[in-house]
Amino acid sequence: MTNERAASAATAPTDDELRERLTAAEYAVLREAATERAWSGELLDEDRAGLYACKACGNDLFVSGTKFDSGCGWPSFFDVIDESAVRLLPDLSLGDERTEVRCARCDSHLGHVFPDGFGTPTGDRYCMNSLALDFEAR
Ligand SMILES: [Zn+2]
Repeated sequence: MTNERAASAATAPTDDELRERLTAAEYAVLREAATERAWSGELLDEDRAGLYACKACGNDLFVSGTKFDSGCGWPSFFDVIDESAVRLLPDLSLGDERTEVRCARCDSHLGHVFPDGFGTPTGDRYCMNSLALDFEAR
């Protein structure tokens, strides 16, 4: 374990805390890398101005201005609030290599990022689970 991970673990919620606080579905996504059913997420059509944070630890992840309608069935963003907010990991679980997105503070699974955000300023599509995010309108 690197120093960086040790430091973040000190401020991150424990697995026991998360089991108590999160619903079973939220826990499955955040801690077991499950994927919510497409078109089922309650943040899919959220279009108010505000901030999206990690549901496990409150780490700010996305601003509403980077959310776009990708048509994929999950809330999609073309950029993170700050590249240090997330960790990107190779994921070979479905055969094709994908890039997993995790919260840099608590290491919870958030979703995946794909290079097919056509027409966006970055060309990236951060495909997130609604269950992994808290939205705060402002
Ligand atoms: Zn987190």
